[in-house]
Amino acid sequence: MKIKSADFVMSNSDVAKCPNEPIPEYAFIGRSNVGKSSLINMLTERKSLAKTSGRPGKTQLINHFKINDNWFLVDLPGYGYARVSKRDKKTFQKYITNYFLQREQLACSFILVDIRHDPQPIDLEFMQWMGENAIPFAIIFTKADKLKPKAIEREVQNYLTTLTTDMWEEAPQHFVTSSSHRTGREELLAFIDDINEK
Ligand code: GDP
Repeated sequence: MKIKSADFVMSNSDVAKCPNEPIPEYAFIGRSNVGKSSLINMLTERKSLAKTSGRPGKTQLINHFKINDNWFLVDLPGYGYARVSKRDKKTFQKYITNYFLQREQLACSFILVDIRHDPQPIDLEFMQWMGENAIPFAIIFTKADKLKPKAIEREVQNYLTTLTTDMWEEAPQHFVTSSSHRTGREELLAFIDDINEK
């Protein structure tokens, strides 16, 4: 897929106020600092479409971007940031939960995890919740440039084994990416293209 246009549409915290055009939508979510903004900018070839976080946990909104006039890319807030208050965490959970449960045009969500880290409870719990609610998702491993090919393979296998041991019969679809090396870009865009054409 060639990115011809990538435009910011709106930010809000209420799923009912999200754009109501019936085009497919793809959400990106993960722990703060996982590399989500960098990945979105790499995918769309825009330097600062998504704001890379000087202060993680700051952007607490559902951000819609329209790509090529025929799909939405949605940048969701990073989770698991310790400095956010308990009350903010609850509000966050509520509107993000509503978003996933109510957003009908959501075609697939991407859960980002840092390829260097062991599976984290917060990510595993979130994946479990997505599974229980039958919300389709794929895993994106980020920052692959930080590891050698053998270590990449080991970390991915370790992650998928954790999932298939504790939660799933089959591992979810996954992508290995690096924003600094543009790794995984073509695969991810082809995956989105395939769904869009269905
Ligand atoms: P976000 O909080 O998830 O949006 O993460 P950012 O995109 O702001 O990235 C967090 C930090 O990780 C920044 O210092 C980025 O430069 C760094 N980073 C993001 N993606 C990559 C990557 O693919 N490779 C490397 N080496 N660093 C990355």
